[in-house]
Amino acid sequence: MRRVGTSVGTVLLVMLMLGAPAALAKPGRGGGSATCPTGSAAVVLDPGHGGGDTGATNGDLLEKDLTLDIANQTAAILENQYGLTVALTRYDDSDPGNSERGEIANACGAAVFVEIHLNGSADPSVDFTQTFWGKKRKDLDFATWMDGAMGNLTGEDGGPIANNGVGQFANGGLLAATMPSTLVEAVFLTNTWEGEQFRAGTRQGEIAQALAAGIGSWLSQ
Ligand SMILES: [Zn+2]
Repeated sequence: MRRVGTSVGTVLLVMLMLGAPAALAKPGRGGGSATCPTGSAAVVLDPGHGGGDTGATNGDLLEKDLTLDIANQTAAILENQYGLTVALTRYDDSDPGNSERGEIANACGAAVFVEIHLNGSADPSVDFTQTFWGKKRKDLDFATWMDGAMGNLTGEDGGPIANNGVGQFANGGLLAATMPSTLVEAVFLTNTWEGEQFRAGTRQGEIAQALAAGIGSWLSQ
């Protein structure tokens, strides 16, 4: 009995050292109380803002609504075209805390975590794409990869959208998530032309396609 007990203890210790598999990682891996809404998922998408926090606005267009729409469309593409399992950090107009969003990705045992945002400026002519990393070692390569993918979006002049590159952002979600993670500021919601595209209902799908292409290709390397 004692030998068996020691053996089991050794196995558990090795698993802890290697990182527990997804099936054992929920709920609350990393000390948080977050759970994975789908049990587990290869990809966790975080629709930015929610509830009383609208994020950027352009007239009646609210960032919190558009990021949820984009996340749902991105999830559908990843599931149907790439065969990936996907969870969202919110499916309604709730507003999880920043760290909790990353902890949900941990609870899902996700391979990547993507926070979806739309940028804002007082200048309605400003429009570019950019991505951010939180912890350089785990995030920089993925953030750079996703910035390249978002750069495939078309801008107002019909060519590639301006690309502001990759930056650092000590965001609670990026810092809490243990896997490659990035915050994507896809385009500027406050831009006049972008607002027209969102009102026409076309920009949401274009952004979802760019996100899915980036995530799908990263995971099939
Ligand atoms: Zn935002």
